[in-house]
Amino acid sequence: MRFEIVCFDCDSTLSAIEGIDELANRAGCGAAMAALTNAAMNGEVSLESIYGQRLNLIRPDKDAIDWVAELYIARMVQGVPETFQQLQKQGTQIHIISGGLKQAILPLAALLNIDEQQVHAVDVLFDDKGDYAGFNQQSPLARNGGKTEICLQLNPDKLTMAMIGDGHTDMEAKKAGAFCIGFGGVVARKIVQEQADVFTREPDLQAVLAYLV
Ligand SMILES: [Mg+2]
Repeated sequence: MRFEIVCFDCDSTLSAIEGIDELANRAGCGAAMAALTNAAMNGEVSLESIYGQRLNLIRPDKDAIDWVAELYIARMVQGVPETFQQLQKQGTQIHIISGGLKQAILPLAALLNIDEQQVHAVDVLFDDKGDYAGFNQQSPLARNGGKTEICLQLNPDKLTMAMIGDGHTDMEAKKAGAFCIGFGGVVARKIVQEQADVFTREPDLQAVLAYLV
């Protein structure tokens, strides 16, 4: 195998949605939110400058998180199960590294036979009634540079590593020594095309196997 560790972004990579934008639409504050997310993924504003702002407007409760978790699965990108099965068959360590909300991503990960320990995302906090009570502000994934930090943490032995994602923040993995594959099957971003080691516009995620197997 070419890479011992393969990391995937979630939103617009494993699933065709941006979870936070869907939650914003559901809460009735969609358009402004989508513009903010897009600006962050294009590298125009820092992630930390908008992260808390977005969640404070949306205030997703437990029901909202369960709802978006189902949507992540319903809108899964073509070829995702096959891609994961192929990598699992050859013994590749797989991680999902996302700036999204962890509890919303775990059901999709479970469906792909990925343990909770291999899902790196931001914990959302609830009070005892299941209402929104904030998020883990210590998470590196709520700020720029977070994906580099996580990649370094999960690879102490400096194994060969690849990162696949659609966003500017995914390409930060390059600073941790990862080979970066830009996935433009959902959204093709110019900055990612420029920063990635290779870039694909194929709508089926299996296109990345050509670089991984
Ligand atoms: Mg993404």
